[in-house]
Amino acid sequence: MIKKRGSIAHHEFLTNLKGAVSNGATFTDTHAHIHFSPLLDELPEVISRAADNGVNRIVTIGIDLADSKKAKAVSDKYENVFFSVGVHPHDSSNFTLAQLSEFDKLLADPKAIAIGEIGLDYFRDHSPHDKQKEVFLTFLDMAITHNKPVVIHNRDAGKDCIEVMDSMIKGRENNGIIHCYDGDRDVLRWALDKGFYISYAGPLTYSKTDDLKDTLKYVPIDRIFIETDCPYLTPTPFRGKTNEPANVVYTANQICHLINCNLTELAVQLENNYTRLFRL
Ligand SMILES: [Zn+2]
Repeated sequence: MIKKRGSIAHHEFLTNLKGAVSNGATFTDTHAHIHFSPLLDELPEVISRAADNGVNRIVTIGIDLADSKKAKAVSDKYENVFFSVGVHPHDSSNFTLAQLSEFDKLLADPKAIAIGEIGLDYFRDHSPHDKQKEVFLTFLDMAITHNKPVVIHNRDAGKDCIEVMDSMIKGRENNGIIHCYDGDRDVLRWALDKGFYISYAGPLTYSKTDDLKDTLKYVPIDRIFIETDCPYLTPTPFRGKTNEPANVVYTANQICHLINCNLTELAVQLENNYTRLFRL
């Protein structure tokens, strides 16, 4: 476990990472918002720091129509940046059906690899639950029409999330990702059963997240994803700083520590999972 920047454990990890990367290990930050400020203002540096850590692919995630367009613009500029389009539950009040044709246009881009982030958030409750569910259903329908995986945001709404998704995805494979998985056991059981991937973010590296860490023993290695959700959720030992894709390796390291595998093996497995889900 790396608790402090510059500690012996941190140095050991950096040496280990360097070795893995020079042996060809690569990582994907499967959920970033690099088109958000302040990352957008220093993108070349952000992308080069990611490459230094072997993070050679980034998926930047849209949260509403205007924002999904910004995600596409960044993906247009950088070959190794892909994007998703969607409406975050916080922003569902601003969604209108008139926007659908614009989303369809964005999805014509081959680098638009997923629909999301979409889902339900009853913790912050920025939009009424009925509106959140309605928008969630609309985008699940879009995912089925366009045959794309979904990126699911769930906060304190596991039961309703399952109910809404169950009504839509019957028998579908390659369903998508439970983004920033929070440790909800019912969601985990359901998601694994339905062929979802479970994505772990920075909180896996925090102290006092033993329940979340414990869930790793139930998730087969071929169903794990890693992400930063940057600029938020900075992993230890960089908490307090702006998060960025380079830091996804700290979540990878924590997984290695918890399931007892080496970084190169994990990297190969995670990249395979990415390729399988997105049929690349
Ligand atoms: Zn996000």
